[in-house]
Amino acid sequence: MPLVTTKDMLEDAYKNNYAIGAFGAHNLEVIKAVIAGAEKVGAPVILQTTSSTYKYVEMPYLIALAKTAAEQAKVPVALHLDHGESYHIVMECLRAGYTSVMIDGSSLPYEENILLVKKVVEAASAVNVPVEAELGTIGGVEDSVSVKEENAFFTDPKQAEHFVKVTGIHSFAPAFGTAHGKYREKPKLLFELLQEIHCSTNIPLVMHGASGVPEEDVRKSLKYGIAKVNFSTELKDLFAEELRAYFKDYPTENDPRKYFLPARESLIKLVEQKIVMLQK
Ligand SMILES: [Zn+2]
Repeated sequence: MPLVTTKDMLEDAYKNNYAIGAFGAHNLEVIKAVIAGAEKVGAPVILQTTSSTYKYVEMPYLIALAKTAAEQAKVPVALHLDHGESYHIVMECLRAGYTSVMIDGSSLPYEENILLVKKVVEAASAVNVPVEAELGTIGGVEDSVSVKEENAFFTDPKQAEHFVKVTGIHSFAPAFGTAHGKYREKPKLLFELLQEIHCSTNIPLVMHGASGVPEEDVRKSLKYGIAKVNFSTELKDLFAEELRAYFKDYPTENDPRKYFLPARESLIKLVEQKIVMLQK
């Protein structure tokens, strides 16, 4: 089927206390592995990219890959922009054919964040594309977004309530203790805060920086409205590890049709395992 939006899949997950896996889609091998992993579970899946990924792959190639993946897949597939850093970038993705977008104005003063998000929701709604936004600051490093842990701050549930109401967003990324990239120590998730945000916002919530969060914590968060969980770092780590291991064993191999295979197989298993973890 064609690419679908994230609206129905997130609402169903939200209502029924499970979550949709959203995976950083960096190239053909990763995209194919994500789809194959989702098909093994029979669950809908989100391919997501930052703007630096579509600049790397180049937009026409990325769209063709995602569309073909969705058409070939036995499960619903959405293409989501992760951490859209400006109105211009979101527009570029909407025009190209993304079926879901995030606008990240979390570094702006509150009122400016609201204005930006409202403008994005208005434009995206005209083409039926749902919008994710963030309030508070999720720490760590993700592409162009880098936030020192001491500068990360948690989402205020009351402010979140207001933010969701006035912007009309469809899903919300709260800062409640997760971080992008690698965790230096075991992350401490604030479940009471998450619960309050869940009650005050009443829309699907998104967990960013899930790579390295213990399984029991991810599963616990599903009870409190987390309906989309983002994975990127773990996929990158595994893919690179497999390539390193391959070239250690076969240092002279030059055929990408051979050296990508074990990495792709391992990635399929990881994606399957992550999606199973997000099931009810
Ligand atoms: Zn993120």
